[in-house]
Amino acid sequence: CERVFGLRDIPVRIEDDGDAVELGGSAQSDGGTRNDGGVTPAGDPDHGGVAGAVEYDDVSFAYPENALVDPEDADEEVLSGVSFSADPGDTVALVGPTGAGKSTLLKLLLRLYDVTDGAIRVDGHDVRDVTVESLRSSVGYVAQDTTLFDGTIAENIRYGRFTRIDEADVDEGEVRDRVVEAAKAAEAHEFIASLPNGYETRIGERGVKLSGGQRQRLAIARVVLQDPAILILDEATSAVDTETEMLIQRSLDRLAADRTTFVIAHRLSTVTDADAALVLEDGEVVERGSHDELLAADGLYAKLWGVQAGEIDELPEEFVERARER
Ligand code: ADP
Repeated sequence: CERVFGLRDIPVRIEDDGDAVELGGSAQSDGGTRNDGGVTPAGDPDHGGVAGAVEYDDVSFAYPENALVDPEDADEEVLSGVSFSADPGDTVALVGPTGAGKSTLLKLLLRLYDVTDGAIRVDGHDVRDVTVESLRSSVGYVAQDTTLFDGTIAENIRYGRFTRIDEADVDEGEVRDRVVEAAKAAEAHEFIASLPNGYETRIGERGVKLSGGQRQRLAIARVVLQDPAILILDEATSAVDTETEMLIQRSLDRLAADRTTFVIAHRLSTVTDADAALVLEDGEVVERGSHDELLAADGLYAKLWGVQAGEIDELPEEFVERARER
């Protein structure tokens, strides 16, 4: 299963516009930058002044690489006329067969590429008008195989926050506390504490080897610390044991609770829990609505799950795999 950020992506150099503004910059109470290490009081989501409203306005996209390989393919659109909006805090499930354009849709939100036509707005700002750094620090990404680097557990959780030079004045003791707090929220503290050197344990080539479920929980801890207004989840398809899955699901639910969340859904329960689903086929949104509405429509969504409306009991857990076999 290809992840949102696949090896095939050769991110085009995206540069800030000369007039680029800081996303959420004006709403900051302390006037600091996004990663200033300020402590957000529990229960008072701040997300660096970003609310997380997301709007796709008639978005079309063709991969620029295609033009390099064969000019004839230059206009081959992977997304065509995609429009939708998500309010702050909404959870939107993306469903559709492999190759439909789900990952591409989310790459555009992170500005790994720029749209060919149309616009994507976050809190009303065209993403091309804000700094890439402030945009990317406002969007968290969790996938099962999120990259960890050769360093300590603590360093890996801190990655993306408290790592820049201009944060050198952040109080180390406080950072340590926040790292532990994030690990607890990610249900990772227990396994970390049981490692020989706890948070200072080295992972990667020269350190301990972690299981898929453990790696995923570190990725979640990283995003807890990042505290983005927007979250992208690429749902795992490979199996972990039931207890680990429960822990991961619990921490993901907490993580998504007060953030605008886009999830590439491989599980039915994800869609039933979401505020809405977008069904993509060949780069177009062909259906949208709640799980019940989509089943009742008896179209691609119902087909993907291999059921007709009214036969909900027979839904398979992994519809994507099913859809592939068709
Ligand atoms: P999904 O996430 O729904 O499986 P993708 O967004 O990964 O779909 O892919 C949509 C289409 O874009 C597919 O035809 C895929 O082959 C193509 N594609 C994906 N990544 C690239 C890339 N980096 N360069 C060119 N084409 C790509």
